Amino acid sequence: MAEEIRLQPERKYMERALELAQHAAALGEVPVGAVIVHKPTGVIIGEGWNLRETEKSPLAHAELMAIEAASKRLGGWRIVDSALYVTLEPCPMCCGGILHARLDDVIFGAYDEKSGSVCSVQRMFAFPYNHHPQITGGFMEEECAGVLKDFFRELRQKKKESQKRWRREMSRAQERVLAEDTSPLDAV
Ligand SMILES: [Zn+2]
Repeated sequence: MAEEIRLQPERKYMERALELAQHAAALGEVPVGAVIVHKPTGVIIGEGWNLRETEKSPLAHAELMAIEAASKRLGGWRIVDSALYVTLEPCPMCCGGILHARLDDVIFGAYDEKSGSVCSVQRMFAFPYNHHPQITGGFMEEECAGVLKDFFRELRQKKKESQKRWRREMSRAQERVLAEDTSPLDAV
């Protein structure tokens, strides 16, 4: 039996996943992007980006969107000979999707200490399920984590600005009320 050759992750696919993450950020979504590559041909057969806010759905994660697109393209639920590239470590739901889709390889960028279920919170693929993908974690980690950091920094900045604006408007409104309060009394 021929020994299985371990996949060497390629930057170009993670770069595409990063583009998709930026696309999510432009929509105001937490930037996570994913692509599925058919290994024998190198063709991207599915793409996805986080759409949780847009779709108002807790299920609209980048990985599941990519899995959905790839299975539609292949015309079946089993996504054979394929690798998933995703900018952030998959959550338990997406790890479940990866198992069901029978993806060969999972390559992720940034680690997610809050819900990453490949190795951060738990090791989902180490459990005795009937499928065990090959894992590469921390691939292009700096770039992948950077997209998230930039997004949250901007979000904090926007929040601060809107709080400042609100305070300014409140104090102006207060001044107006005080001014109106005194004039009728003065008239009596
Ligand atoms: Zn997920």
